[in-house]
Amino acid sequence: MKKTNFSILLIVSIMFILCTHVYSYEYIGIGSWPTGNVKYAIADAPSSYTNPIMWAADMWTNNSNFKLTRDNSSQINVYAYNYGVTDWDGCTYINGQNLTPINEQYSYANIQINRKYADSYDDLRKKLVICHEFGHTASLGHVNNYTMMYISDVWVAYQNNNSLRYSPAQDDINGVNNRY
Ligand SMILES: [Zn+2]
Repeated sequence: MKKTNFSILLIVSIMFILCTHVYSYEYIGIGSWPTGNVKYAIADAPSSYTNPIMWAADMWTNNSNFKLTRDNSSQINVYAYNYGVTDWDGCTYINGQNLTPINEQYSYANIQINRKYADSYDDLRKKLVICHEFGHTASLGHVNNYTMMYISDVWVAYQNNNSLRYSPAQDDINGVNNRY
């Protein structure tokens, strides 16, 4: 290989590595809320979930352009309920659809937390699961690195990235702020 070809290959490789790092967030389609100011309500949850839900909403409000306000005229309804044996502890529906590509404007969303599992979680784990689900309502899809939107289990992400107790990861925030 000629030296110039090798140099070009090297530069392209470095750019690819940098770019894949910078754009590590994913979206669940091109749809979004009309604005980043969205109202949520605790539709049905025991009081032990009130603080974790409010904390999770505040994590996005305080760190990104996705601003969640608790209000009964809600666009997002949060449920903590015993859904029985499932392969998830938290689940989000937007316009009635579960994480299929959603390309229209959002009008409503439901977050479901499965008490079958989450009742035994400590407060921080409850908070992070709910924060992950609010991340979906901000249009974020899953990624395979230790951010709030980690694909398999946000608790595994937290064990590898303790800063998630203070803020979503910068990649999560970049994804939200590039949309709102
Ligand atoms: Zn998820």
